[in-house]
Amino acid sequence: MEHMTTRPILIHPDPRLKTVADPVREIDDDIRRLADDMLQTMYEAPGIGLAAPQVAEMCRMLVMDCVKEDDAAPRPMVLINPRITGHSDEVQFGPEGCLSFPEIFANVERWYEVDAEYMNLEGHMVQVHARGLLARAIQHELDHLDGVLFLDRVASHRDVYPRKRYR
Ligand code: ZN
Repeated sequence: MEHMTTRPILIHPDPRLKTVADPVREIDDDIRRLADDMLQTMYEAPGIGLAAPQVAEMCRMLVMDCVKEDDAAPRPMVLINPRITGHSDEVQFGPEGCLSFPEIFANVERWYEVDAEYMNLEGHMVQVHARGLLARAIQHELDHLDGVLFLDRVASHRDVYPRKRYR
């Protein structure tokens, strides 16, 4: 963790955000370093999820932390080669942001629950059943690995609105 640094986040319409990322072949020092840097970059932004292509690394890796409470301990997740293996029929419709679109939010329909599997940094396969915000984040971030952006999922321009400014 001692060399953790933030990396610049690609901003739409950077064409790399529309590129399909390659599977991670081996969990080596470069991948561990990238995971640390992505977490640092996500926390500083701040955001709740970040995909490797957003920092110009075209590999199938995500970091997330969907703890919402301000004083809760961080719960970082690193998901390598993630895939969705099942989902509910029920959907959720609500606001979503993206660190590659600093100016906007959009209402996006997502499945309410998903089953996903991924490899963690220790090389173990992990199954997760997610609902609500975590399920939304997994779907949003996994889309990044296929070059799909949240605006591609928006049904109407009326569902896109400016991000509120607090300063
Ligand atoms: Zn995003």
